[in-house]
Amino acid sequence: MKIAKQKGTRDIFFDDMNIWQYVEKKIREIANNYHLNEIRTPVFEATELFARGVGEETDVVNKEMYTFLDKGGRSITLRPELTAGIVRSYIENGFDSYISPVKFWYMANMYRYEKMQKGRFREFTQFGVEIFGSNSYLADLESIAISYNLYQNLGLADKITLSINSIGCSKCRGEYIEKLKKYIRPHLDNMCETCKIRFDKNPLRILDCKEEKCNLILQNAPMITDNLCKECSDDFENLKSGLTKMSIPFVIDKKIVRGLDYYNKTVYEYIANDFKIATGGGGRYDTLVEMLGGKHTPAVGFGIGLDRIIMLLKEYHLINDINQKTDIYFVLLNEEAHLNYLGLISKLRNKGVNVELDICNKSFKAQLKYADKINCNYVCIIGEDEVKNNIAILKNMATGEQVNVDLNVQSIINSIK
Ligand SMILES: [Zn+2]
Ligand SMILES: [Zn+2]
Repeated sequence: MKIAKQKGTRDIFFDDMNIWQYVEKKIREIANNYHLNEIRTPVFEATELFARGVGEETDVVNKEMYTFLDKGGRSITLRPELTAGIVRSYIENGFDSYISPVKFWYMANMYRYEKMQKGRFREFTQFGVEIFGSNSYLADLESIAISYNLYQNLGLADKITLSINSIGCSKCRGEYIEKLKKYIRPHLDNMCETCKIRFDKNPLRILDCKEEKCNLILQNAPMITDNLCKECSDDFENLKSGLTKMSIPFVIDKKIVRGLDYYNKTVYEYIANDFKIATGGGGRYDTLVEMLGGKHTPAVGFGIGLDRIIMLLKEYHLINDINQKTDIYFVLLNEEAHLNYLGLISKLRNKGVNVELDICNKSFKAQLKYADKINCNYVCIIGEDEVKNNIAILKNMATGEQVNVDLNVQSIINSIK
């Protein structure tokens, strides 16, 4: 019996793999330009890390985690996001004794048992950045600049909208939540079940509700952005003028609160305009390091879903000409010629020339036919006469032009330049 892949997982190969590698290359370039350090953390962590770090009342922790007991009876969870794991690593490795800021980037697979949607998988890949040790809005600005830069470099900047908001600090948010609850309390009976539960456990997330009846009630609710303390309000103003100076377009969306519990002050999201789906987001999380047992450390970061980025690149046909081309395909008379020229081919490959040759014992004719079909710049033909004279016919596949070349590394390299 055949075994199929699990729901929500992907096999990535051929053309799609080329697109993935293209995106990954752009990401590495950006990480280098912003002087970020790559970090790789384990795929599984103690379940408690996410319960404490992401928040017990979030959908991620409540409904979506892949949690199991290992053979030693420990509760293990496949990471549903990376921030908590990086913070764990930050504390465990004593990064707080390093000079600030400590800046990490990652590209990694994560796991959430979610409903399937366009561009959403249960095993998915994110690119993200975490910046530790700065409480300045300048770090928020830097994190937005990095993420926006990726959309720009991929030609997607005009296909997405950056929405920003401030959800305040522990001080002004506490006061705001009381105000919000006071406003909602008389309407609570007319709201959905989720909102009723959130009213006590996480009232801020009521603003996230998509139900029509709740939306109507929330229309006149007080907004956190209008209830910020002086410090939070100044930071938000500075952030906005910084974005304008950097020519990064944005809109303010007072309803963004983000699904995870650990954010404060700046929060932001990228939405794909034509598809109305989130492609990434982030924000500040000044209390998370402390919550997970470290010293107080301000921090800001983001994550971008690469599956959706790939989907957009394909939808908008922004991925032309990234197919890998073979430099030379060798067509060889027979097995003897094959073996005789393997040394030469090996030297060419060591010099960085991309060479392919038949390894299926195809006939000379079948090799010639195959060479026509594949994407290669040159075909090097070594038939009966060529073996005798130790020369080859080199055919330029773009122009059809053929020349004779001596069968040594240097003359072949010179002829394909
Ligand atoms: Zn505040
Ligand atoms: Zn509701």
